[in-house]
Amino acid sequence: MTTRQPTSPGLLERLEKGPVICAEGYLFEFERRGYLQAGPYVPEIVLEHPDMVRQLHRDFVHAGSDVVEAFTYYGHREKLRVIGKEKLLEPINRNALAIAAEVAEESGTLLAGNICNTNIWEADKPETHKAARAMFEEQVGWAVDAGVDYIIGETFEWVTEAMAALETIKAAGKPAVITFSIVPHGKLYDADAVEGCRRIADAGADVVGFNCGYGPATMRPLVEKVRATVSCHVAALPVPYRTTEKEPGFGSFKDPDRENLPGGDPFPTALDSFACDRYEMGDFARHVYDIDVRYIGVCCGAGPHHIRAVAEAIGREPPASRYSPDMTKHATRGTDPIIPEAYRRRVE
Ligand SMILES: [Zn+2]
Repeated sequence: MTTRQPTSPGLLERLEKGPVICAEGYLFEFERRGYLQAGPYVPEIVLEHPDMVRQLHRDFVHAGSDVVEAFTYYGHREKLRVIGKEKLLEPINRNALAIAAEVAEESGTLLAGNICNTNIWEADKPETHKAARAMFEEQVGWAVDAGVDYIIGETFEWVTEAMAALETIKAAGKPAVITFSIVPHGKLYDADAVEGCRRIADAGADVVGFNCGYGPATMRPLVEKVRATVSCHVAALPVPYRTTEKEPGFGSFKDPDRENLPGGDPFPTALDSFACDRYEMGDFARHVYDIDVRYIGVCCGAGPHHIRAVAEAIGREPPASRYSPDMTKHATRGTDPIIPEAYRRRVE
């Protein structure tokens, strides 16, 4: 096996100079397209349709992502046990990493490994901690073999579990980005969300913050508090949904206009009417970048149009900007002199 050379400049050098954009949300996007099942949410697609995964990585890079995150989210032992396919554990991880490495290589972007919430961690059961650490170690090992530039530990709801993930990543000698997914009312299960970030930062994470769960409106005040609390870099990767103080996470939405939704709630497969447009995600990115939050992205629900808006909002011009809107050429709303007067919409 040939060892991949690290990307230069690496994550920390890029963050010293400015923003790093990281597109996430692969699970939701492939579920929406009909190639991944809601509920289990296991990324078997990396074996079944590798070309689609490669293309979505390329789409996100084209739209401005500086990072290709290997699609190993929920490709871990607990989820594979739930669907009775533990034998696919290593092939899923190695394939996901190889696909991501290929796109990172061709585009000069950063290659990130990924570990996440194990779904087995319980604070007062040490045997679950041992099992979770073993899960982190095997996935981090495969990521290291693939030559990743850094490793993301994401959507943790326990600070103690995130700490175990951080220790595993640091022991492997890789930079660590640790992000929490906040449970309702702004907390983690075993700590306040901001306090959790402070503890992870103190323990040596290179980047700490939040991803998933909360939309831009509800994540923003928490990100501001974290920025004011820690001295390391801060991450902010909300879901593109219009969360509110009353419904702070996308799991808490109720839709009074929809009486017969399967499961009763819009989450996770009927969130369409709560979606943020691209400009809202751009506004969020600009705001957090203004307060020196440099690791910025979008999680579940993200499309390339959101990522392009994030990139443009912080002064980038990714390849996809070639196709950013020019409404002066629109058939009825345009102002271009070639458009017949009779076709121009009159607003009076
Ligand atoms: Zn997410």
